[in-house]
Amino acid sequence: MKKEQSPDYAKMSQASAISLGLTRGRMYRGAVNRCVNLLVHYPEGCAANCAYCGLARKRPGSYRDKSFIHVQWPIFHMSQIIDAINSAPSYVMRTCISMITNGKCPKDTLAMTRLLKNKTSLPISLLISPTILKKEDLVKMKDTGADKIGIAIDLATPELFDRYRGKGVSGPHKWEQYWETLEAALDLFAPPNVGVHLMVGMGETERQMVSLMDRLWRMGIVNHLFSFFAEQGSKLANRPQPPWPTYLRVQLARYLIEEELSSLDKMVFDQHGHIIDFGISPVQLKQVINLGTPFMTTGCLGPDGEVACNRPFGNCLPDERQWNYPYPPNEEELALIHENIFEIQEESARSL
Ligand code: SF4
Repeated sequence: MKKEQSPDYAKMSQASAISLGLTRGRMYRGAVNRCVNLLVHYPEGCAANCAYCGLARKRPGSYRDKSFIHVQWPIFHMSQIIDAINSAPSYVMRTCISMITNGKCPKDTLAMTRLLKNKTSLPISLLISPTILKKEDLVKMKDTGADKIGIAIDLATPELFDRYRGKGVSGPHKWEQYWETLEAALDLFAPPNVGVHLMVGMGETERQMVSLMDRLWRMGIVNHLFSFFAEQGSKLANRPQPPWPTYLRVQLARYLIEEELSSLDKMVFDQHGHIIDFGISPVQLKQVINLGTPFMTTGCLGPDGEVACNRPFGNCLPDERQWNYPYPPNEEELALIHENIFEIQEESARSL
């Protein structure tokens, strides 16, 4: 029997499967997933060992059954995925294929991109793994029809990157290689078509995260934020999420930087790196918070110019506090944000 693996098969996020009607279910407050999030699949899985990741090689369990960002990723044949995309609700605006660190990925991701391009009309993003790619692969991705590239740098500093994705976990990833690929992707795909994923709560200060976002934005790269949310059985299973006020402040700082309302050099930080002044007037700050938009998920945009990759509840449980709102926060949620955003909490002691 033929193995269930890419390029013939792909994993799909549970939220995408619900939106496409491939899995039964409903999401909190009627949230919808506007992107078809696919993940390449091989029985042997990912060769890397990122400390926070559900797919890490050393996390116990078979790759097929490993959860990723807390949800199951059922496997579907590409023909089933194509049919579902072609009859998707009109709010579905984009498809994304995420690579893992597996030598077969570059060739198979291209084959899947080509198939989707030929048989569906949604634009295609690729979330790539620099460790297994050469510059020529990026050229082929563009020629095949992908229009946006994402790279999960995840960590705010080279030291944290090495500790959680590189030598510290016997992993293959190198900070420099990620940046070289980022620059090559930017040359080929041009702003605003290259984005990075960044994870708050890995031991960085707010200042470190803000300075990275500011640097990336000035290069022409868009920032997509996640908060750390421990996966059961992963190396960091017992690590708490970052303080919610920290995450809110970093989200707000990202918005201000990318809307060009403020920048790193206008913001003020305390001795522990917490943001204590966003560099705009209190009246304007209140107006911006009231928009609610700074706290919504950011990700690749659809042809309508709105966020398509909105990953509902990708880093929180819906009935608890929200970390990325997949819809505009309502009045009650905005009141909670106002109440918490300026609170300075010391992070509890953390260990690997
Ligand atoms: S390379 Fe990606 S999929 Fe593999 S362990 Fe690291 S974060 Fe997870």
